[in-house]
Amino acid sequence: MAGARKPGRNFLFVPGPTNVPDRILRAMDIAMEDHRSSDFPKLTLPLYEDLKRIFKTRDGQVVIFPSSGTGAWESALTNTLSPGDKLLASRFGQFSHLWIELARRHGLEVIVQEEEWGTGADPERIEEALREDKNHEIKGVLIVHNETATGVTSDVAAVRRAIDAANHPALLYVDGVSSIASIDFRMDEWGVDLAITGSQKGLMLPAGLGIVCASQKALATMKDAKCRHAYFDLGDQIKANATGYFPYTPALTLLHGLREALAMLEEEGLEHVFARHHRLASGTRAAVKAWGLRLCANEPKWQSDTVSAIMVPHGFNGADVIDRAYRRYNLALGAGLSQMAGKLFRIGHLGDLNELMLLGAIAGAEMAMRDVGIEVELGSGVAEAQAQFRDAAQLKVAAE
Ligand code: PLP
Repeated sequence: MAGARKPGRNFLFVPGPTNVPDRILRAMDIAMEDHRSSDFPKLTLPLYEDLKRIFKTRDGQVVIFPSSGTGAWESALTNTLSPGDKLLASRFGQFSHLWIELARRHGLEVIVQEEEWGTGADPERIEEALREDKNHEIKGVLIVHNETATGVTSDVAAVRRAIDAANHPALLYVDGVSSIASIDFRMDEWGVDLAITGSQKGLMLPAGLGIVCASQKALATMKDAKCRHAYFDLGDQIKANATGYFPYTPALTLLHGLREALAMLEEEGLEHVFARHHRLASGTRAAVKAWGLRLCANEPKWQSDTVSAIMVPHGFNGADVIDRAYRRYNLALGAGLSQMAGKLFRIGHLGDLNELMLLGAIAGAEMAMRDVGIEVELGSGVAEAQAQFRDAAQLKVAAE
């Protein structure tokens, strides 16, 4: 039908799924193969070692499920806990909310610390709650490292210090879905016991892999865990994975894609990847300031380097900006979720992207905002982001 085609590239700036680089698409464009062949472990075994570098762990055990991140949430909880076990969780956005709800559906009792959306986990409150738990009934602390719904990053190291200060044995469960491979994450140094992620964000892949990394302490609790699980059994995976195989058919193409993604992260260098995400986020924040708008993250310490949630002025609906951006400019922006619905739109700046790609999204967001009547000056955000990116590029050249 004439007029139905949208020419050019779709500007995908939701905070996941992210752009899949051409290299990864080519790596996944393969004929199916026998996942029980004697060659298969040559593909799989190195994946675990390379993923350990991404999680920054030496002794952690990585498991790759054919699932989205939600499956990894479920696996981490059900393999290490029993119905009725208590968890302590901070809630400050839609994803921390959903993880809590998932835990409750498995019969876990969650003590929720409500935090204002736009802030993150409060280590002092966590320490206090753990100190009060004299009988050590709380078995785990749940933290969403990067709350994708509000663009907030919490300080996981500070949460670990809080647990240690309370001298409490609870396991530390961390959702790194929109942080791992984009924002610094240190499984061993921060004493994380169960870290989880998905394939469709920093790993630059389509959705379809749910990845769990378990500490030795977490693995030791598995034998007593009574929550029901079958498909998401960590033990079955660990046993089969030891020789490079899986207890059921793995997501073959995604594993080939993962091979390529890990190679790309290695070539760029993980620390450079983090620095790039910080640069891109700083440019976005400069644009937001130039527009006279504010972020949902209500203090600089909470600001995420992977996603910026931008509050629209009173009287406007963020959903209109998103719809206009999509229909007129072929730009996909992230929606406000739950209590943030309509109040904001999100620019995801994670995965495989660079400054000029992001400038396109900032320009499109400006146009869409103007289209719905928000008085931002065309070019103002672009100019500030450009200035930021130029300064950063000059500093980089000077350092070389
Ligand atoms: N946790 C966070 C922080 C997320 O951003 C998401 C999804 O965007 C999830 C968990 C759920 O992951 P999935 O949609 O892959 O199941």
